[in-house]
Amino acid sequence: MSDTRRALPSVDKLLRDPGIAALLTRAPRNVVVAAAREAVERARRRRAGPPEDWADEVRELVARRIQPSLRPVLNATGVVLHTNLGRAPLADAAVRAVGAVAAGYSTLEYDLSTGARGSRADHCRALLAGLAGAGDALVVNNAAGALVLALASHARGREVLISRGELIEIGGAFRIPDILERSGATLREVGTTNRTHLEDYRGALGPETGAILTVHRSNFEQRGFVATPEPAALAALAREAGVPYLHDVGSGLLADLAPWGLSGEPRVPDAVAAGADLVLFSGDKLLGGPQAGCLAGTRDAVQRAARDPLARALRADKLTLAALEATLALYLDPERARVEVPVLRMLTADAAALARRAEELRARSPAALAATLEPGSSAVGGGAFSEALLPTTLVALAPPPTGAHGFALRLRLGEPPLVVRVADDRVLLDPRTILPGQDDDVIRALAAALEE
Ligand SMILES: *Cc1c(COP(=O)(O)O)cnc(C)c1O
Repeated sequence: MSDTRRALPSVDKLLRDPGIAALLTRAPRNVVVAAAREAVERARRRRAGPPEDWADEVRELVARRIQPSLRPVLNATGVVLHTNLGRAPLADAAVRAVGAVAAGYSTLEYDLSTGARGSRADHCRALLAGLAGAGDALVVNNAAGALVLALASHARGREVLISRGELIEIGGAFRIPDILERSGATLREVGTTNRTHLEDYRGALGPETGAILTVHRSNFEQRGFVATPEPAALAALAREAGVPYLHDVGSGLLADLAPWGLSGEPRVPDAVAAGADLVLFSGDKLLGGPQAGCLAGTRDAVQRAARDPLARALRADKLTLAALEATLALYLDPERARVEVPVLRMLTADAAALARRAEELRARSPAALAATLEPGSSAVGGGAFSEALLPTTLVALAPPPTGAHGFALRLRLGEPPLVVRVADDRVLLDPRTILPGQDDDVIRALAAALEE
């Protein structure tokens, strides 16, 4: 062992250093101790020996350990509903509503006209029901919860008829057969993987039937020799049999995106109009609001779900309700929603405008990255419009000698972190998901990652 290494201080000695001891007012003792131990360990492994300033080194390691783990990032991947990056960014109006309700007291469960207890379920209710064209609506914590609640309250202890083509996995261990079982209902498969007919459902109906369920195949498409009954036909069959028809449409599309080339995803109002007793969907996919699970349907069906004890366990919090109410209010004017709900704005972004932003980013990128433009496509993400490719203009960067993956890593470790695409050993930026006002941050992130 060399002399420098033998001369390394003990952790105890480091903790007596005034600069390091001062860190104890900013971080828990065990964090400072762990950082000091790491500093010594690093010095032992490093050929260059101990750091110039132990206090600086430990301060840096403490800072790394106590930085929040949930942090904002810049999304240059072009995946609009990026599930790992928090799905839908909120509209300004929703952010303001959250801030106002979060910072003070609110009417969460308070009726101002009587000065008595009000109901949390009343927020969003009329707006959501109105926009969905439904008799009533309820908001819970997320769409998986909405499905569990719908099944438990309507079909606990009974059979639920579902097509073999819809026994799907949505991601994150959310599997329809497991959810069904957990809700206390029994799975009754009908039809085949590729073709299920109305007669298959009819043949399976019986005294044990608790509900008919259809689930949108969110993250894949079936093509070729396939068949699925229309929702209206299933609704009619369910009504005839006296059982509820539950329809999980997934993404919560309220807007009409067909003029922008996006079709094939079920719209909430259409599913309600087709006659489903309950339509279930997410708040933070195509709806563009906060994480939430929405149930819209007939008054009886919604109230039955609302009365279930599970509804209390799955209830939405005040921040969610504030954000959702403000987001839904934007939909009263569809054009306003298209422009102000970030998800809709990004999905309907004009190709020429994207090309202009790409050119600005290219022109401002550090010269060492030799930025060029090329046509490419963005993805919707979140399991919605799973096959759609949205034309965009990409900024392609030639990475430094560390390679594209190494450069992408440095970008992720920056502040704020920048998440990019890597293809053919190049780093690609898609302006579609870089929010307005974030271009400066992106350029700074590129320069900072080059410097290190
Ligand atoms: C995404 C999705 C869900 C789950 O929604 P969460 O809001 O993530 O809980 C359920 N069903 C379908 C069809 C979906 O696409």
